Amino acid sequence: MTAPLWERPTGRESAADRGEYAAPTVRSLLDEARTSIPLSEARLLLRHILGVSHAALEAHPERKVSLQDTASFRALAARRAEGCPVAYLTGCREFYGLDFHVTPAVLIPREETELLVDIAVERPVRRILDLGTGSGCLAIAVAKQLPQAQVTAVDVSAAALDVARENAARHGVAVRFLQGDWFASLEGERFDLILANPPYVAEADPHLAQGDVRFEPRGALAAGPEGLDDIRRIVAGAPAHLAPGGRLYFEHGYDQAPAVAALLAQAGFVDIEQRRDLAGILRVSGGAQP
Ligand code: GLN
Repeated sequence: MTAPLWERPTGRESAADRGEYAAPTVRSLLDEARTSIPLSEARLLLRHILGVSHAALEAHPERKVSLQDTASFRALAARRAEGCPVAYLTGCREFYGLDFHVTPAVLIPREETELLVDIAVERPVRRILDLGTGSGCLAIAVAKQLPQAQVTAVDVSAAALDVARENAARHGVAVRFLQGDWFASLEGERFDLILANPPYVAEADPHLAQGDVRFEPRGALAAGPEGLDDIRRIVAGAPAHLAPGGRLYFEHGYDQAPAVAALLAQAGFVDIEQRRDLAGILRVSGGAQP
């Protein structure tokens, strides 16, 4: 601690008193931050503040960082050290090769959800519905891949829809956004493909109290005692909103594959299919309209 000015004996001014503080460098800030957060995350946060590429940051470790940018970076690093997800701090996350704006109003897009885009791309159809769109990542990636499709996206959260609309505009795709609870705003409408990444974590799952998910909207994650409440509603409601031969596919928890296969069969779905994510876990299930 430097003594306050009024207590300091004259003739022993510090560099700060003389206005000679050396601006921190990229290297010194990264060294400082890595004592509390991983270096890879510190780099992402600093790149975000400086607006530079990974290569540019690496190439100029001695680059001076202004005091204002230094303060901004330290504030973000401190919030990360408290647990706030990097995606909420930078406001963006990549999904299916596209950059999405994210805020704490939406779930942070996850790699395993890309499986649902792959499924849509395999069998292109016209009318596609994304239930619980959140950031819009799924609907927008599908619309981008299938320009002929008419994509509708629903969410119960107005704040999430604001983020999703902004993302659709950013990527120049026309997606129809509707606010509503699952099928509530879709009276009388039918689709060729229904996709969903619903909440599916059990309310009491200790995972909800750990790491990044603590900062995500609870309503996008948790769904009743077994995590199946919303999946049950989607499976039960889908047949009335599928065109003949239309298909439903949704993401679910790592241990829910047997339960969701049973739910699909009970609801009369045929040609039931389950797919593994990159980690080898059965992660997406679906079937065709009864
Ligand atoms: N896969 C997410 C998690 O485990 C949950 C996402 C979801 O509920 N749709 O945190």
